[in-house]
This record gives sequence, structure tokens and C-alpha cells, in this order.
Amino acid sequence: MKNLWNDKEAEQFKGELAQRVYTSRLLGRDSSLVLHGGGNTSVKITETSITGRSEEILYVKGSGWDLVTIEEAGFAPVKMAPLLELAKLETLTDPQMVNELKTSLTLATAPSPSVETILHATLPYKYVDHTHADAIVAITNTDQGEAHIKKIYGDQVVVIPYVMPGFDLARLCAKLFATEAGSNTIGMVLLNHGIFSFADNAKASYDRMITLVNQAEAYLAAQDAWTISMPSTTPSSPDLVALATLRHDLSLAAGKAMIVTRDTSQIANDFVHHPDVTQLSQQGPATPDHVIRTKRLPMLGTQLGSYTDHYARYFSEHAPQAKDKKSMLDPAPRIVIDPDLGLLCAGQSIKDAFIVRDIYQHTIEVILRANALGGYQALSAQNLFDMEYWDLEQAKLKKGGTRPPFTGEVALVTGAASGIGHACVTSLLARGAAVVGIDLDNKVTQIHDRPDYLGIVCDVTQPKLLQQVLTATANHFGGLDMLVLNAGLFPGGCRIETLADEDWRKVMAVNLDANFSLMRASYPLLKLAPNGGRVVVIGSKNVPAPGPGAAAYSASKAALNQLARVAALEWGADHIRINSLHPNAVFDTALWTDDVLQARAQHYGLTVDQYKRNNVLQTEITSRDVAELAAELCGVLFAKTTAAQIPIDGGNERVI
Ligand code: ZN
Repeated sequence: MKNLWNDKEAEQFKGELAQRVYTSRLLGRDSSLVLHGGGNTSVKITETSITGRSEEILYVKGSGWDLVTIEEAGFAPVKMAPLLELAKLETLTDPQMVNELKTSLTLATAPSPSVETILHATLPYKYVDHTHADAIVAITNTDQGEAHIKKIYGDQVVVIPYVMPGFDLARLCAKLFATEAGSNTIGMVLLNHGIFSFADNAKASYDRMITLVNQAEAYLAAQDAWTISMPSTTPSSPDLVALATLRHDLSLAAGKAMIVTRDTSQIANDFVHHPDVTQLSQQGPATPDHVIRTKRLPMLGTQLGSYTDHYARYFSEHAPQAKDKKSMLDPAPRIVIDPDLGLLCAGQSIKDAFIVRDIYQHTIEVILRANALGGYQALSAQNLFDMEYWDLEQAKLKKGGTRPPFTGEVALVTGAASGIGHACVTSLLARGAAVVGIDLDNKVTQIHDRPDYLGIVCDVTQPKLLQQVLTATANHFGGLDMLVLNAGLFPGGCRIETLADEDWRKVMAVNLDANFSLMRASYPLLKLAPNGGRVVVIGSKNVPAPGPGAAAYSASKAALNQLARVAALEWGADHIRINSLHPNAVFDTALWTDDVLQARAQHYGLTVDQYKRNNVLQTEITSRDVAELAAELCGVLFAKTTAAQIPIDGGNERVI
């Protein structure tokens, strides 16, 4: 483990809180120390209150902040005096603790202070750093965990047996620290949980964390338990229908659509095929706060029914021992280990699924090292249950409020690099869907830089490439719920008598054949959409009202329209809805340059503005208007509508 302290960088962080920000970020940068919101840090600062009173304030990490990106605003300022009084109490319930922490803040807009706030307050050091270092949890999740820790550190650390985080842990730490800390003490190891370091300045506290963790890593190395070795395997390429089937079943078990992503890393693949995977994977997580993300156990194989039965038994066995009444969370697994499908990670969004993936990659390393040290042994099911069902932990998942309507769903948009397709991607992302955008133009890979968007360059007239797109979609997101058929060609005016075979075929290939191929290839996935599949066809006003000079275009769109109607009849029993939009005069696309617009307007003796609004409602139609309607067609408003054809043209006399 490298010490990332850099004098030049550190200089830019002036002041005690800024220094706290700097070293917190250093901890956050190393994923083997903290992961996704794990760990917490604090600093005690003496300040003058508005009435001129000098008081000591604990700035402690606010709930919901990640150490790697934390700012000064991410630290909650809590008055030390009431915290130290609280620490003397015999008992304090969670609601009482939350209330006391909140009412002891000096800033109304501060985030909620960490659940480990009182613990930070009781440690008599200015700077306190806490991580869930992989090396520490690997060593302490073994039978002889405590003995190993004592051998490594001697009197450098105080050892704390496992107690659930919160008030009880704070009390136990304060008690043991008071009796066991000596002049050599620079840290505290919490068995099965993590490690604390502390000092009177930010650098020293950070240095101590790195030193302590390095000692643990060196110990593992000396015990031949550091380097991970597994029989190497070649990555499998699972059947995409099998992937979508699993996602379908998992979503039903979860009671909501879920994103399921395949972890294709070497370590994940090797672990799936590890000869002892059954025993190794069925112990529990490396540190208890992972349980709200990963559930206690991964599912082995694809039998959802037996997993959820097992989960229900775990609930009914442990809920009666809980402090208050609990209701069962959804019983769906978040990690699936299957020899054919590989290692799959599930979450309500791809961000959640990636968090699960990152956590489990570290968990695999922890498990294998602990195993090499004498056998991986996670906390008891009851301890993990208490953590999984702890309201203060579950509250972390509920941050951010209600999720948008297409959360957990996956859409594919063709012709996504510009115009209506691009706008459809934006509208679907805004509604919470994960989106795959495909286009011939390689700009499609860059239109969004976010985990829920996947841009793929693809010639839609190549069925083989479409199949690859669907495979990538299933590997990345688990399946497909919505298909927006938008890619199309609109060649310039050419009358039938002069229309070349080649030009006719080119238009048919893109506007008709490609959509047929993609519909056919997508059907098995759409059929497995947990909320029912949806297809939106971007048609054209030319379907009900064709124009001269656009024979190939009008014919291709009309044929596509008929194809959609047949699909509505054939696929309705599979709960797949297919609806068409017929836009007209959408001018904010790449096709319509200023020059072309000018020329067309002039041709009709109109200004550009008049030309754009040349419809019954005298309104301009934008790509966004079409995209928003396309997205709504996939939503609950149209849940009982299929085979509809909706004009979006401002009213066209020939169509009316
Ligand atoms: Zn912790």
C-alpha cells in the first residue's frame, strides 16, 4: 500500500478542516481501504460561536458522502460537549441518537453526521481516520483473527471485539480505549469490521493508517496469504436469452425491474470456476456494511426459488431477535455465481450494480487471503441480519428519494448519434432507463459519458452486428425492455421513373429490412422484460400522406408501419406493446442545414419561421417533442395501448 501524501498537493489545503478534506480524499483514492461510502474521518476544531463562546466542534463525515470526493461541506459540525455527555449514557436508542446528533449540529444545512460520530468524539485525538481496509478484514475474518492482530501489532493498537456500529460500539470502544491504550497506541482494530488511526495532525493520522495497513499486508505476505492464486480460466460467453431469463426472474423476486451486469474480470471468472466456490462464497460479506448492497450470500446457480425460500427462512429465523419489528426486504440476490453465466451483479440502477461489482471484487480477494491464512469465517448470520435490517443502514439506500419511472429498465435506440434518436436517448435517461445507443456515426460513443449509457457504432443493415449489440446489451445491463426504431434514410427528391434500383434498395435496407432484423432478434429479450416489452417506431407523416419524389422513403415507412401492426398482433400475448409516431417537419436534425431550410422556405414563398410552423397549430416541432412522446409511449400512460399511430406534426390537413 502506497502512502499518497504529497507536500505540494497538501499545501493547497489550508486550515484544519481543509487538511481533513485532503487526507480523507487520499484514503478514498485507495479502494482497498474504503469503497463507495465506506469509512469515515473527523477533526476536532475549536471555534467561536455567534455569541462569542469558545467551543470544540467535531467535524465528522456526513452520511452519503464518499471520502474520495468529499469537500468541506461534506463534514457535519457537531458540538463536542453534548457528544461526550451522551457517551456516558448506559443506553441510547437509534432514534434518540439520531435526534441528539442532529440537534447538536451548529449548521442547519449540514448532512446527517456519521453513525460512528460518538465513537470519533470519544477518541482523544484531533484527527481520527477509519477505514475498512481489505488486509484487516481478511485477517480478522478468520478463526484466529484476534491472535493474528495481536501478533502483528502488539500494543500499537487496541483490539475491539465485534459489536454492531452505532452507540454500543462507541461505548465499548471508549471503555476499552480508556483501559487498554498506552503510550505506543496509534490505532484501534475492530474485529470483522475495520481499523482506526489517530493523531494530532492530519498527516500523522493518515501516515499511521498506511503504516498499520502495510504491517497487516506484510504479515499476510509472510504467511503466504497475500498473493492470490486461482486456476486460470477462459471467459465464457453466455447465451443472451439465459441472461435475460435470469434478469426477468430476479426482477420478479425483487418486485421491481433490476439491472444485472456481468463482471467479466479475470478474478471474477476464476472465482466462479474455483473448485471450492460453493464453500468460499457461502460465508458472508467481508465487512458488515456491505450486506445492504450485496445481501448476506450470493446465489449459486440460477434457481431463484430456492434462493428466495432460503432468504425467507433467514428472515424468519433472525427477525424475532431484532430490537424492533422488522418487515422483510426483497429476497432477490444481488450477486449470482453460475458456471455458465459467470459472475453477475444486480442493482436497481447500473450505478448500484457497479457498486456491488466493486465490493465483490474486493470480497473475493479478502476471502482468498483469509482462506490462505487459515480459513475465511465471516460474522454470524444474526450479526449480519442486524446490520442488513438496521434502519440507519437502510436509510443510506433510500437517499435520493423516489426513483424515476424507468429505473431498472433498459432501452435500445437506433440512429442515436443525432436528431430524434439522440433526443430519445436523453428522454429515456431522464426517466431512469439505462440506454444503449447505436449509430453508424462514431459520435454515438461520445454523446453521454455516464455509466447508464452505452454507445456502440453499428451498421444496422448487418444482422450479425445487431446480434452483437444485443449481446453487449445483455452482458452490460441484463436484458432489453424498450426498443426505439429510429434509424432511417431520407434521400432527396427523385421521381419513380428515375429512381435507381440501388437507391431504392438502400432505403429499404435501412428503413425496413434493418428494423425487421432488429425486431426479430430483440423479440426473445423483449418477451423477458419484467414490465413487458415496448417498441416505438419512429414512422413518418408520409405513411398517411405520402409526397411526390419520396417513393422509396414513403414505401419503406409504410411497410414498416404494416410490420409494426402485425407485430402488435403477434406479440401482444407476450405483453409486448408496439406503437408508432408519425412526425413531420422536424427541422432541428443534421439533415436540415440553414441553407437547406432557406431554400425550401423560399421554394414555398415563406420565411424560414413560417415554413417551420406551416401546420394547423402553427407550431414548431422539435426532436425533443418527438422523443418525449416516444418515451411516454413506453410509460404507464400508454400501458394499455398497442398498434397506435400518433401524428406529431402540429396538425396536417392531409392527415386530418
Ligand atoms: Zn466502519
